[in-house]
Amino acid sequence: MATATATLEPRVKPGPTKLLINNQWVDSASGKTFPTVNPSTGEVICQVAEADAADVDQAVSAARKAFEHGPWRNKISASERGKLLNRLADLIEKNIDELARLEALDNGKPYKVAKAADLPLTIACYRYYAGWTDKVQGKTIPIGGDYFCYTRHEPVGVVGQIIPWNFPLLMQAWKLGPALATGNTVVMKPAEQTPLTALRVGELIVEAGFPEGVVNLLPGYGPTAGAAIAWHHDVDKVAFTGSTEVGHLIMEASAKSNLKRVTLELGGKSPNIVFADANMDEAIEGAHFALFFNQGQCCCAGSRLFVEEKAYDEFVEKSAERAKRRTVGDPFDSTTEQGPQVDDVQFEKVMSYIEAGKQDGAKLVAGGNRVGNRGYFVEPTVFADVKDDMKIAREEIFGPVMSIMKFKSIDEVVDRANRSEYGLAAAVWTRDIGKAHAIANRVRAGTVWVNCYDVFDAAAPFGGFKQSGIGRELGEYGLQQYTEVKTVTVKLPN
Ligand code: ADP
Repeated sequence: MATATATLEPRVKPGPTKLLINNQWVDSASGKTFPTVNPSTGEVICQVAEADAADVDQAVSAARKAFEHGPWRNKISASERGKLLNRLADLIEKNIDELARLEALDNGKPYKVAKAADLPLTIACYRYYAGWTDKVQGKTIPIGGDYFCYTRHEPVGVVGQIIPWNFPLLMQAWKLGPALATGNTVVMKPAEQTPLTALRVGELIVEAGFPEGVVNLLPGYGPTAGAAIAWHHDVDKVAFTGSTEVGHLIMEASAKSNLKRVTLELGGKSPNIVFADANMDEAIEGAHFALFFNQGQCCCAGSRLFVEEKAYDEFVEKSAERAKRRTVGDPFDSTTEQGPQVDDVQFEKVMSYIEAGKQDGAKLVAGGNRVGNRGYFVEPTVFADVKDDMKIAREEIFGPVMSIMKFKSIDEVVDRANRSEYGLAAAVWTRDIGKAHAIANRVRAGTVWVNCYDVFDAAAPFGGFKQSGIGRELGEYGLQQYTEVKTVTVKLPN
C-alpha cells in the first residue's frame, strides 16, 4: 500500500445544518443536535439538528398538505416538474466543486472521485428523470360492452425516503428523481454519518423553486427519525436503501402500520467470476475496482471473487501487488485512491472481519492493518484460499477486504455463486461469449456485468433478487415504484 501524505485543505464550509420542513430551515422540536464527523481525522465538523418523531409528524403533514392542496399537484404541469428538476440539476452543476468537497469532507471519499463520478452521476440522474415527467402514460383498454376504459399512473402520495451514507448525493438523486418526476411529495432522512450534502442540496431545491412541502429533509438517527417515518400512518410509501437487517424492520413497520408501499435496496455479497480465458490484466484491474472502489463501501461490491483454478495463482499474486500499490490517505490529495472508512463503527467492523479471516485460516496476502493512528483508514486487504463457509465469504464486510476463491467448472461456480441469501449483482470475465451468457442467465442477481463492473447509468435499472431488496431503482422500471395505477371506466351513451 502506498500512502498519500500531503494534507490539502478541504476549502469548504458546511451549508445548512437544520431541518428543512415546508421550505423553512428549523431547529428540531427537541432542540437536540448531533455531531457529524470528518472520518479522516475523527474530529467533529459541526453539529446538525436531530430530527425525531415530532419532526417527522410536522414534515409529513407539510408533505401531505403540499400533495393534497398545494400547487405541486394542482397548478404545476408535468412538464413544469421537469423544468424544476432540470433547474435543480443546473444548480448542482453550478456548485459541483463545493458539493464534491463537502462530500469528501463528510464521507471521506476522495474529492477527485466525488467530482468525477458521484457528482456527474447525480446530475445525470436528475436530468434523466426531468425528461420523464411528461412521458408517464397510461393505456386505453378494450373492455367488453359500451365502455371507455383507461388507466392513469398517479403519484403514490407522501413518500418517506431513508438513504445511506456511502453515496450520499447519488442516493438522494436516485430517490428524489423518480419520486418528484411522478408528482409525489417527500420526507427524506439522510444518513446520520453524512447529512451535509443532502442539506446543501435542500438549499438548492428551494432556490430552484420547488413549492413548499414538496421536499422535506430530516437529518437524524435510524431507530428514531427513520423508524418514525417507517411507522407513520400518513406516509404512503417508504423507499429505503441500507442494510438487510434494517430492511426487515422497514417491512415489519409497514405491515404493522398502514401497509405503505415498500421498496428496498439492501446488502449484497456479489460473486465476481473470472475465467482463465479472460483478458487477465483487465480482469485483475476490474476485480480490484469492483471490490476497493469507494473504500469497499458498495452494496454491490464484488466481494466473492471466484477465479478459475488454471489462473488462480497468477491472479492472486497480481491482485496482491495491485492492492499494495493502492494509495490510501487524505481525500483531498489528488493521488489518493482510497480515503478512510466512514466512521469508527464501520472501521471496527472491518477490522473484526480481517481478524475473522485470519482466525478462519484464510491466507493474508496483502494489507490487514490500520493505516496511521488517526481517522479510520484501513489497508487494502487481500485474502487468498478463502472457503465458501468462512465468515468473510458469507457476510457483507463493506470495507476494503478482498476474498479470492478457486473454482473448476461453470456448473460448480454457478451453484456456489447462487448459494447466498443475497442477489444484488454479479460479474463475469471471459473472452468466451457462451460462458458469459451462461453466467448472465444462471446467476440469480439483479445486475450482471460482463467484462466490466460498477457500470451505472440513470437509464439502467438496479436492485436485488432475494434478500438484496424489493423493487428496482433507476430507469423506467424505477418510475413504476412511485406510481399507483388507476383504472377509469366510463359508460358510453347509446
Ligand atoms: P449501515 O449499517 O450501513 O449504516 P443502516 O441500514 O443501518 O446501514 O442505515 C441506512 C439508513 O437507514 C440510515 O439512514 C439509517 O439512519 C437508517 N436506519 C437505521 N436503522 C433504522 C431503523 N430502525 N428504522 C429506519 N431507518 C433506520
